Amino acid sequence: MDITAEQFAMIRKQFETLKDRSPFYAKKFADIDLTDIKTTEDFRKLPFTDKGDLREAYPLGIAAVPPEKIVRIHSSSGTTGTPVIIPYTQKDVDDWAIQFARCYEYAGLTPEDRVHITPGYGLWTAGIGFQLGCERLGAMAIPMGPGNTDKQLQMMQDLGSTVLCATSSYALLLAEEIEKRGIRDKIKLRKGIIGSERWGEKMRRRIANELGVELYDIYGLTEIYGPGIGINCQADSAMHIWSDYVYIEIVDPATGESVPDGEVGEIVLTTLQKEGAPLIRFRTHDLSRIVPGECSCGHNEHPRIDIITGRTDDMVKVHGVNMFPAQIEEVIQFTDGASSEYQVMIDHMMGKDTLTLFFETERTGEEKEKVEQELALIFKAKIGMTPIAKGVAIGELPRSLKKTQRIFDNRY
Ligand code: ZN
Repeated sequence: MDITAEQFAMIRKQFETLKDRSPFYAKKFADIDLTDIKTTEDFRKLPFTDKGDLREAYPLGIAAVPPEKIVRIHSSSGTTGTPVIIPYTQKDVDDWAIQFARCYEYAGLTPEDRVHITPGYGLWTAGIGFQLGCERLGAMAIPMGPGNTDKQLQMMQDLGSTVLCATSSYALLLAEEIEKRGIRDKIKLRKGIIGSERWGEKMRRRIANELGVELYDIYGLTEIYGPGIGINCQADSAMHIWSDYVYIEIVDPATGESVPDGEVGEIVLTTLQKEGAPLIRFRTHDLSRIVPGECSCGHNEHPRIDIITGRTDDMVKVHGVNMFPAQIEEVIQFTDGASSEYQVMIDHMMGKDTLTLFFETERTGEEKEKVEQELALIFKAKIGMTPIAKGVAIGELPRSLKKTQRIFDNRY
């Protein structure tokens, strides 16, 4: 995706002073004269910024403003060691709210809506972003945070929540509880805004059907504002990414080279307006592709990407075959009788790697065995190796409030 003239004007403007404002980029770009960057090709020669760089800058080394300009920090969950801290100026906080309110508008929300917010509040960016955008739009925020399912369902009924904001796994958990308690006719939800996680089509359909809602995917990451830098519109499932705030590239995760529009690769983002922590060519490790062509909603100023298909670090190699969770989900989706929940165990036993795929199914006995055989055949055809497929009863695999880990590599 080429940089537009408007985006280039914003990039050139921030490059004029970037090295003066940011000790981090002064060091990173020490040997580069940023006034030389005149074309998309020039821009693509700039080195990437990776999460590791941000970790090294802990706590506030990434700041590009004096400390008195910082009004808030957020932090991304550090699963390994030092977390990453991102400072925000007032403009950054306001810009995030503007983008988030735009997301809600694209999803068709109005000030009449009552927005039930279940993502967590605190150091990470989720809950507060959903709330800021909601208030900016003028809708009613119901700031639940995660957990306490009884209270969630009570408030949902008493306040008449019309929009549910959640991770896909928590939305599924709530949908199942609503079904179990037989209270669906007391629930007024009409839309679900689901963030922060890659999820399969089958799970999407289950949540949509069980809750009776239209679903929207919201995109974002703590390093770049948080959730809210893009969402799908009412016309299509691809997500528009706000081109006045970020420039998006898709690169081959192995070589770092740009891939043609339409091909899957790693999302790389450059902020165009961020003051507290501007990021240039930040590697997200999320996999997606630019969706070419025009969207029938008419908002073609904001390019579109597909639903996130995986993480570059989720890729596993078994018997020399690379696979991503999205491919495994596709197999599940094609298998008649398999439900959306699954778990993969990769082990090394007796000198050989094995991949066991557990999936939930309503079938039992011989019927279950048939589904297992069918799933193994589809897996072999689509991915190129034969797994051990094991069907388990619905509800046996773990559901969680946060991101659900589905692939467990026990080989190392
Ligand atoms: Zn659209």
